[in-house]
Amino acid sequence: IIDGGRPVPPHALTIDEASLSFGRFQALKSVSFAAEQGQLVTLLGPSGCGKTTLLKAIAGFLALDSGRIEIGGHDMTGIPPERRDTAMCFQSYALFPHLSVSDNIGFGLRQQRIGEAEIRSRVGTVAEQVSLVAQLAKLPGQLSGGQQQRVALARAMAVRPGIMLFDEPLSNLDAKLRDQVRMEIRALQRQHGFTAVYVTHDQSEALAMSDLVVVMRAGEIEQMGRPEDIYRQPKNRFVADFIGTANIMPVRVIGHDAASGLHHIESPLGRLTVRSEIAPVAKTIFACWRPEDAVLVAAGDETGPNRATLRVLSRTFLGSLCDLIVVTEGENPVSFRIQMHGFTPIAEGERITLSLKPEAIRFLGEAAE
Ligand code: ATP
Repeated sequence: IIDGGRPVPPHALTIDEASLSFGRFQALKSVSFAAEQGQLVTLLGPSGCGKTTLLKAIAGFLALDSGRIEIGGHDMTGIPPERRDTAMCFQSYALFPHLSVSDNIGFGLRQQRIGEAEIRSRVGTVAEQVSLVAQLAKLPGQLSGGQQQRVALARAMAVRPGIMLFDEPLSNLDAKLRDQVRMEIRALQRQHGFTAVYVTHDQSEALAMSDLVVVMRAGEIEQMGRPEDIYRQPKNRFVADFIGTANIMPVRVIGHDAASGLHHIESPLGRLTVRSEIAPVAKTIFACWRPEDAVLVAAGDETGPNRATLRVLSRTFLGSLCDLIVVTEGENPVSFRIQMHGFTPIAEGERITLSLKPEAIRFLGEAAE
């Protein structure tokens, strides 16, 4: 398959204006994105936004109403799941309780009628990769949650799919194990070079793992991009709020200085300057900044841009971070969340002065009125 003179790699994935309804309910509304071969793309969004539906459509378990899915440049319309070069790894493991770990891992290979010697060899290889060699003779019920999750992963990997589809595979694991298995998945993906589509509603997982993050809401894509771009330049309040923590405030744009490139705004923090390549879409607009962007200014220090004095409402020590809720003084107090590295000797009720770099403030693409 040739696309514009270049051959399409066999494990590249393209979703082109995919729409799908359940009765009258439209679960996917003209969704388009592309995963290059060997990339990990996460579908991120709140419950019910259509992530699993899209994954099932890629796997071939659900048919689109319109639009198309291409794998390696081939249209998958009408192609059954077993002929799509995909494998799916679920949240609920879906292991066979009466089969040994070894037989669970080899299950997909037996269905493909691969010879026993080859099955034994492939099961041995993946079991080693996911640290399950000592568990091969056990039944799933004799394993921990993390080990069961690895069996599910090994079973999907054993068939050596070009495209691996993960449906919230880590949601049943505790936080530490989740971090560990997620690094393992990423390492396996890099090593084997499969393309992966990874469904999650956990924004930190999406930021940590992805080459491309696709943020979805109500069957539509809100924004997609590299994790750092989505985090630094969210398009609207929904994305800013869903990815990380954001201080979102309505601001009024009062001027632009072409020489310095700075925009001047009025905000709940007073007059501020904003360095943004993206011009504000309206005079009254939402802008955001991240809790780690605020810098504490020492008493008596008169330097630093965009200074504001606020009162500390609460202070939570989190080990590596200190999390503060601060509030503006005056008639209509507005609260913000800020984070300082390490231990910060600030007391609740204290007044502090913060400084915000002009480039830390981003305009969102939404008018505030
Ligand atoms: P979650 O994170 O909760 O799994 P999701 O983003 O994966 O959510 P989907 O499972 O794709 O969401 O569901 C999208 C919408 O489609 C939901 O509103 C759901 O109720 C609806 N839906 C899913 N499957 C069906 C079905 N078979 N029949 C009718 N409606 C369905």
